[in-house]
Amino acid sequence: MIRIEADLHTHTVASTHAYSTILENCRCAAEQGHKAIGMTDHAMGMPDSPHSWHFENLKALPRKICGVYVLRGIEADIIDREGELDVSDGLLAKLEWVVASMHSWTFSPGNEEKNTQAYLNVCEKKWVDVIGHPTTKKFPYDMERCVKRFKECEKLVEINESSLLTRKSLPETAGELLRLCKRYEVPVVINTDAHFCELVGRIDLASQLVEETGFPRELIYNTEWERIREHIIKKHGEIF
Ligand SMILES: [Zn+2]
Ligand SMILES: [Zn+2]
Repeated sequence: MIRIEADLHTHTVASTHAYSTILENCRCAAEQGHKAIGMTDHAMGMPDSPHSWHFENLKALPRKICGVYVLRGIEADIIDREGELDVSDGLLAKLEWVVASMHSWTFSPGNEEKNTQAYLNVCEKKWVDVIGHPTTKKFPYDMERCVKRFKECEKLVEINESSLLTRKSLPETAGELLRLCKRYEVPVVINTDAHFCELVGRIDLASQLVEETGFPRELIYNTEWERIREHIIKKHGEIF
């Protein structure tokens, strides 16, 4: 079983299709001995996302809740083949953790070439830390080409437990992604994308895939909070 120290993709009631508060999420994270949590509510392109002020004002939260460090983050939407996001660079610059994902609400599923271009182009976005659930059935792409680019641009690759649970991602696809990340030594993060507090930190399906593919533990970045912390300081500045 893989143990992570920080679940870096979670949602709160700020997105109305999620059902727990940040306090509840942090309590559950603390119960599992986590050191940090990524609070990454949906960006403004999603119809029930919070107003941009939610993200502007994240600094109103204490640095730690229930002893768990709260990363001020966002799940931005990739909106076109140019890899544009639905969040301004100005706002992203104020945050500490940026997941960039494709969702069918904000990105009309195209052919493999369109999706590939979108992933290649989002790599140019300075503030993006993680490529969120790049295993979704709806968005096939040239995985090998993109994985190489993720590495070159130092984008972390997410293995997303919720996608596996809901079958939005097939285990075969996530397994293939892990095999490619292993071959090219690309760091991954295993996150839950929890929309309810009791799911925070539960990564059973992703752990199983890690075992099956013999994925190297040292490439799973969020097994050590310190490593993530260093990544953030290097990229987002002295925010601690
Ligand atoms: Zn959501
Ligand atoms: Zn998502």
